[in-house]
Amino acid sequence: MMHKHKNLRKTFYDFDRESFDQLAEKYKWPSFRVDQLIGWQEKHIQSVDEMTNISIKMREQLKEEMHWPPIKIVQVETSEKEPVKKYLLQLQDGNIIETVSMHYNYGHSICLTMQVGCRMGCHFCASAKLGLNRNLTAGEMLAQIAIIAYAEKSRISHAVLMGIGEGLDNYDETITFLQRLRSDDGISMSLRNVTLSTCGLAPEIKRLAHENLPVTLAISLHSSNQDTRNKLMPIAKHYTIPEIISAGDYYFKVTGRRVTYEYTLFKDVNDHPQEAENLANLLKNKNVHVNLIPANEISGSDWTRPDQKTIDKFQEVLLKNQINSTIRFSAGQDITAACGQLRRQNA
Ligand code: SF4
Repeated sequence: MMHKHKNLRKTFYDFDRESFDQLAEKYKWPSFRVDQLIGWQEKHIQSVDEMTNISIKMREQLKEEMHWPPIKIVQVETSEKEPVKKYLLQLQDGNIIETVSMHYNYGHSICLTMQVGCRMGCHFCASAKLGLNRNLTAGEMLAQIAIIAYAEKSRISHAVLMGIGEGLDNYDETITFLQRLRSDDGISMSLRNVTLSTCGLAPEIKRLAHENLPVTLAISLHSSNQDTRNKLMPIAKHYTIPEIISAGDYYFKVTGRRVTYEYTLFKDVNDHPQEAENLANLLKNKNVHVNLIPANEISGSDWTRPDQKTIDKFQEVLLKNQINSTIRFSAGQDITAACGQLRRQNA
């Protein structure tokens, strides 16, 4: 299958304690060596030779067993307006992904890529243009955090799974990533600081509810009208708006975590006050939050941002109906690091 990550060697961050234990058995390493390796993962090292408390012989064995470096920085673009950097990172097979680092007053946040490309085909999204090449492994998701923490000498406290790809379309690796992200052996990040975005894969949303991973779920709705949503996002034809909202309700019922609905406002497409009224009716009396995101420019795209008056009017309708909502301008627009602007690239 095209989207499987076959023929890849494991990298350092693909190993968890259990798989290091297996290596220890194979090479007859004493068990404290596994603690040392986990300790080096926590230091986000990028080269085998940084592990100075490990013998040269064992380092050679580690070179045999895994691909080094785990991931490479190809380019960094720094925003002139905000504390935001966009990293172009190269995977072992030459594929290049984009990862965004954002410093806020509440912490250091990273916007992660989950797939090389995406097959969801949302018409307004730069990532969709080349389709899906392959899924990332959980280790490749962790490696994005490791290399940015290492490069910026900073502890990453928050993560948003909103970069390239649909995390729930790469379900198993995304779940493994979240488990390892939370683990004391890993980055020990509180999953309350993690937001997982989905274009609305209703069955996977319900499945996620039972994984005991208390992330904030952000469902990209983008329209309250089925025909409009069909035009924006091909996935809309598979799961209707009521099915998606019912999955969101289920997620809240099982996890107690309030669901966020993402709504990108496109001029003359989904920004009419009647759409806001419909949205308010769909979400009435539910414990939800709506993020209104004025569209970002994507070169070669017809999708544009409404004027401020239209944006404000849309929110006014929601607030009048007691629907919590915020207007969120996404960071990093000047370096095309904002929502919908990231794209898969080839080496
Ligand atoms: S918006 Fe998300 S789900 Fe849709 S094509 Fe882009 S990356 Fe994929």
